[in-house]
Amino acid sequence: MIIHLKENIDANKVEELAAQSKSIALKTGSYARLITSSSIKELPSFLDDYTDEFFTMDSDIQLASKDYKSDIKEIDFDTFKIGGTTNNTVLIGGPCSVESEEQINASAEHLISMGLKTLRAGCFKPRTTPYSFQGMGMEGLMLLVKMREKHGLKIVTEVRDSTHVQAIIEHSDVIQIGAKSMYDHGILKACGKQNKPVLLKRGFGTTLQEFVQCAEFILSSGNPNVILCERGLRTFETKTRFTLDLCGVAWLKEKTNLPLILDPSHAMGHAFGVPDLARACTAMNIDGLLVEMHPNPKVAKSDASQQLNFEEFKAMRNSLDPIANAVGKTII
Ligand code: PEP
Ligand code: MN
Repeated sequence: MIIHLKENIDANKVEELAAQSKSIALKTGSYARLITSSSIKELPSFLDDYTDEFFTMDSDIQLASKDYKSDIKEIDFDTFKIGGTTNNTVLIGGPCSVESEEQINASAEHLISMGLKTLRAGCFKPRTTPYSFQGMGMEGLMLLVKMREKHGLKIVTEVRDSTHVQAIIEHSDVIQIGAKSMYDHGILKACGKQNKPVLLKRGFGTTLQEFVQCAEFILSSGNPNVILCERGLRTFETKTRFTLDLCGVAWLKEKTNLPLILDPSHAMGHAFGVPDLARACTAMNIDGLLVEMHPNPKVAKSDASQQLNFEEFKAMRNSLDPIANAVGKTII
């Protein structure tokens, strides 16, 4: 249940009511909301005098539910917006990892040449073996900062664990929480206590309910700026790296009020399928795409097989415009 308290109830009283109702208190300006478990279906009587309105909810997808707020949340990337009433599909491109200044600068320049605005690259990489490249860490993050200053691009980069969450929050424009970190409550809550947009990837073995409940950790900690990202599930299939859950995307669009970004690169695992998938995703009227691109994918230090080279990326980018237009969107 989401309870809107009356305006100007003092902070101590809000805390007291939250404790009494075993709920989370969420303050926005002079208003406070209490969020209880969705199993509570009747307003506790001690809240009668303090409550403006309340919403009973079907499940613990609450703040993110269209049953609570039907309008899609608008997310501000500072120089542009996605979601809300905008028609933007943001194409976020860049290598899997920052590897050198030359590599990330070439990627940034390629994005600019295609009229794009948002660069992605990992610095703290969550790898599946300790014997592979783990990312450039802070040095990589500072190179991304340099790319923002030099090219005016917005920076999306991933937080892997709590040791560097504050550094990512400070230096990135959009904080990516990767599939392997979707359940890290330390990261979720740290991202909830600040206001930058958070791109939350779905864990590859998680249900839609579990995924959106993780978004609820961020939302209920105070940050409304959450973007959901589908990036493929582990299935019995081994020919592709993961299986992109487009049915899940349709469900998220129908049921949640959060913008959606799709990542065909990690789902497919092979460059050859990525442009087709990117076109299919765009046709689903989504808010963004995350596509890996590298100046020379063959020598990439992570995810080499799935990264597009510059030519492939450009051809894909150009092919997306008519598809985006057909569903009322513009690629930016
Ligand atoms: C990435 O974006 O490079 C990445 C590691 O993605 P995921 O968390 O989806 O595996
Ligand atoms: Mn990657």
